[in-house]
Amino acid sequence: MSKRDYYEILGVSKDADKAEIKKAYRKIAIKYHPDKNPDDKEAEEKFKEAAEAYEVLSNDDKKAKYDRFGHSAFDGASGFGGGGGMSMDDIFSHFGDIFGGFGFGGFGGASSGGRRHVNKGTNLRVKVKLTLKDILSGTTKKIKVKKYVQCSYCGGTGAENSDVETCSTCHGSGQVIRVQNTFLGQMQTSATCPTCQGQGTIIKNKCTHCHGEGIMKGEEVVQVNVPAGVSEGMQMKVGGKGNAARRGGVNGDLIVIFHEEEHPELIRDENDLLYNLYISFPEAALGTSAEIPTVESKVKIKITPGTQGGKILRLKGKGLPSYGSYGKGDILVKVNVWVPKTLDKEEKKTLERLINSSNFEPKPETEDRSFFDRVKDMF
Ligand SMILES: [Zn+2]
Ligand SMILES: [Zn+2]
Repeated sequence: MSKRDYYEILGVSKDADKAEIKKAYRKIAIKYHPDKNPDDKEAEEKFKEAAEAYEVLSNDDKKAKYDRFGHSAFDGASGFGGGGGMSMDDIFSHFGDIFGGFGFGGFGGASSGGRRHVNKGTNLRVKVKLTLKDILSGTTKKIKVKKYVQCSYCGGTGAENSDVETCSTCHGSGQVIRVQNTFLGQMQTSATCPTCQGQGTIIKNKCTHCHGEGIMKGEEVVQVNVPAGVSEGMQMKVGGKGNAARRGGVNGDLIVIFHEEEHPELIRDENDLLYNLYISFPEAALGTSAEIPTVESKVKIKITPGTQGGKILRLKGKGLPSYGSYGKGDILVKVNVWVPKTLDKEEKKTLERLINSSNFEPKPETEDRSFFDRVKDMF
C-alpha cells in the first residue's frame, strides 16, 4: 500500500506553519479518537495515519527530510521513526499534550468492558541536555526523576498491612453483568463494578501513608542510554519509568527529549559541522597553518598560498555519525580573510606600493555553488 502525502492527510498546504499543522492534527485526532469511535477500524487507521503525519511535520528536522525526499526519507528507520508502525501507546505518549484538556483519558482505560481494570501510571517527560561530544559517541545519562513511586509502606496495595479483601459485589472480577429486558429479549451487558471501581478488591483499612492510593511522591535515578547521532528534539521512550500507578497498576513510561547544547565554535548542520576560520590577509597570500577545533580535540590544517576568502575546506569524517546508520559527516571550514580596518603609516605605504601590482588585481574563479548553498546560513 502506498502512503498518502502527509500534508494531504492533515489537509494543510506545504507552507503551513507549526500552529496550523498542530491545529489540523488536533481536529483530525479528536474526530477519529478511539474513545469516540470504539471498534471502528477505519477510524483507527485514520487516527494512526494522522499521528504519523503529525510526528513528521511537527518536527523541523523530519519535516525538512520529508520535504526533500518524501516517504523514502524514513525507509528503514525505526525507533524514532518518522515512518510507520506507531502503536496507540506511542501516539498517546508522544502527543499527550494534543489531547490534554479534552477529557480523554488514556487509551484502553476502564471504559471498555471485559477484564479487571488495571490502573496505568501516567507518562513523564524529561529533557536531557547533550553536548556534541555526547552525540558523537553516544553516552549514558543518569537522570533524577521526581515522580510517583509505589508506596513503600503498603507495597502499592493502598491497604494497611497490604490487607485487601475480594470485592463481594463482583467476586474479584471487577465487572458486573447487567441484564436488561428489551423487546428482543434479555440482553446482557458487562460494566465496571461500582463497588470496587473495577479493581476487584476492597481496602478495609487504608494505608495511612498514601491514603489508599498505593503511590507516594518520590524520585528515581533512571539510566538513559543515548545512542550516537541523535539530534535536537528527538524522543526516546524508557518503558515503565514514568509515574507509578494507583494501587499496584502498571507504571507509565518516561519520555526523554534530547536537547542539544550549542557548541562554542562548531555549528551543526545535520551530520556535518561548520566552522568559520579567520586568517589575515598576508597569511592568505603567503600560506599558513591553522588549528581547527573538532568535537573531541583539534586538528592542524595547511592553508596553501593564494587561498581565497570564502573557500570551503572539508575535513572528511570529522563530523557526527548518522543516527541508526553508518557513515559520518565532515567538518566544513569556511576560510574568511580578514581585511585590516586600521593601518599605520608604514603599512599604508607598503600596501600602496602593492596596489598597482598586477598580482593584486582580483581574478575571480568560479566557486562550487553547492558548497555555498550548504553553508549559506553562515554568510
Ligand atoms: Zn501505602
Ligand atoms: Zn467489585
